[in-house]
Amino acid sequence: MKRLLTIAIAALAALPAFAEYPDKSITIVVPFAAGGPTDKVARDFAEALRKPLGNVAVVVDNAGGAGGTIGAAKAARAPNDGYTLLLHHVSMATSPALYRKLPYKTLDDFEYLGLINEVPMTIISKKTLPANNFAELRKWLEDNRGKINIANAGVGSASHLCGLMLQNALKIEMQTISYRGTAPAMTELISGQVDVMCDQTTNTTAQIEGKMVKAYAVTTQQRLKTPVLAALPTLDESGLKGFNVSIWHGLFAPKGTPKAITDKINAALKVALKDPAFVKSQEGLGAVIINDARMNGPEHKKFVEAELEKWGSVIKTAGQYAD
Ligand code: ASP
Repeated sequence: MKRLLTIAIAALAALPAFAEYPDKSITIVVPFAAGGPTDKVARDFAEALRKPLGNVAVVVDNAGGAGGTIGAAKAARAPNDGYTLLLHHVSMATSPALYRKLPYKTLDDFEYLGLINEVPMTIISKKTLPANNFAELRKWLEDNRGKINIANAGVGSASHLCGLMLQNALKIEMQTISYRGTAPAMTELISGQVDVMCDQTTNTTAQIEGKMVKAYAVTTQQRLKTPVLAALPTLDESGLKGFNVSIWHGLFAPKGTPKAITDKINAALKVALKDPAFVKSQEGLGAVIINDARMNGPEHKKFVEAELEKWGSVIKTAGQYAD
């Protein structure tokens, strides 16, 4: 008996200090404003992640600004103990080509924990804009050259890139107005301060349904199937041949977070991605939940490496930079 006890004590002592992870609340940094599309994904995901992590609180910290680079830098510098994570999107792959000085290294400063979803975007406008379909919007944009404002969430954000691609495809330059996220941009669009925006369906679905804004097209090559968005044509079928953008969200931790912890988070992420409430909410908003190898850290990182290449060459060709 005494011997058994000694063995048990020795075994317990050999367990690493993080065996109890998590024993306090976890913070997910969201590098955009509260109430926007990334925030919406993060809050739904945090709720789903909480359960497989033993019901510990998972809270969202909105650190918006500079196209998501401020929040990403904040997470990169946080203690690597598994209690600060980062939920970020395609900007992780676009910012390195856009910012001359980036306050973190995309591939070296993070552990990659898994991809979460892919989200299409929609072209929307203030509701007083006198166009009722994409052809009319195009005509209005042509007639108002030099006077049009387009909102976005800062250099490198999804709305920025989608807006640039739209301007290039239409050959119409617009004046860019940047916000800490597309939630504040949406408020200004609704009140008519700005004219148009391209934003994720996770933000636009409710506003389109509530007729707070007008919607003209989706950015994917296939039409979407959700009740609110199914009637919208694709940009491709509306005359902008080949237009195809949908963005992704992934989960990251500061570099050096112990593997035992990242393994635990990755296992929880896979459970969260199948959580019925998460699946229902995301699918209702037009998002596609990841169901392939990119749910794993190494494949997630490989995917982002490919995205860095892809966006790097698109952006360099366009000659866009920020400081
Ligand atoms: N939709 C934003 C973007 O353009 C991000 C956000 O506000 O969540 O990237």
